[in-house]
Amino acid sequence: MNAVAVNPSREEVMLLECPEPALSGPAQVRVRMREVGLCGTDREIAAFEYGTPPDGEDYLIIGHEGLGEVVEVGTAVESLRPGDLVVPMVRRPCRHEHCYACRAGRQDFCYTGEFTERGIKQAHGFLTETIVEEEAYLAPVPAELREVAVLTEPLTIAEKALAQIGLVQQRLPWACPVGDEVAACRCRAVVLGAGPIGILGAMALRQAGFEVFVYSRNPPDDPRAKLIESLGATYLFSEAVSLDKLAGRVGNIDVVYEATGAAQVSFQLMETLGVNGVFVLTGVPGRKGPVKIEAARIMRNLVLKNQVVLGTVNAGRVDFEAAIRDLGVFLGRWPHALRGLITGRHPISRYRELLQDKPRGIKNVIRLH
Ligand SMILES: [Zn+2]
Ligand SMILES: [Zn+2]
Repeated sequence: MNAVAVNPSREEVMLLECPEPALSGPAQVRVRMREVGLCGTDREIAAFEYGTPPDGEDYLIIGHEGLGEVVEVGTAVESLRPGDLVVPMVRRPCRHEHCYACRAGRQDFCYTGEFTERGIKQAHGFLTETIVEEEAYLAPVPAELREVAVLTEPLTIAEKALAQIGLVQQRLPWACPVGDEVAACRCRAVVLGAGPIGILGAMALRQAGFEVFVYSRNPPDDPRAKLIESLGATYLFSEAVSLDKLAGRVGNIDVVYEATGAAQVSFQLMETLGVNGVFVLTGVPGRKGPVKIEAARIMRNLVLKNQVVLGTVNAGRVDFEAAIRDLGVFLGRWPHALRGLITGRHPISRYRELLQDKPRGIKNVIRLH
């Protein structure tokens, strides 16, 4: 079978011929991959900035945004049957007994850093024809989500962020009664960036009851602007609304969802965060030089406005399940916008240009079966 792999020591990106994996335990599932989405992480791995092969191997099969179909199940597998659609999770726990996060099944909060991640860190990924995976790391997907379920993994970022925003906002019991779905604290959210993470974040925040503003450097005639407005969100072009005018335009900014990985603009935006605001960082900046920030102003605001800044990476099983549920909701509410996020479906033979040329469109997907 074919797989797309990188050899970091030789700086090679290649289409690899490798044997089909077979079940080696009763709790395992063999999955035929249908689609794999590509993102900036894959492009960074293909540029050898990132990405580690499994121990003892010299190459890493990439791909971490997968959708597949079960073809075979081990004798102990209870929840899945051949024909079921599944999305595989990315991170696997570390082995340390004292890592409470991994032992609790929340390896997305791993303390030791010795987790593995399929397609990224010391474990092969999903950009291949067939994988074998433990039942515990596969999230079942209803058949009616077949055309959009490849967006599950990128949506899990927003789901994990929303869960944490909810926890922080419980400190405002007068505005955010626990268990109340659309509460008064669910006010105004600014999403920074209009890539797939930003747009899926905007959808999740809208669905959670926020008034949403997407702040982007893409000009307003970019198709993303229309797509974002179709969600009932407001599109703000960075050249038309400067950051110092943003709070005047939006009002008290209760939440910022950062989805660019750009340090300078993120910290400038932090200066505009409102009273009792939560600032969520999801992007990983490249290794660039230092940026200038207004540290004293940011620190003063953090204290005097009761602000919280939190970073979030990866996602747990609950976030995958929430993402799959929400994709169904989004497909009913904004079918055109959700489908419009996937701007290209390509054969595996185009892997090189998709990984190494300047990205075009919103989300590119490789179709395997
Ligand atoms: Zn990704
Ligand atoms: Zn751990």
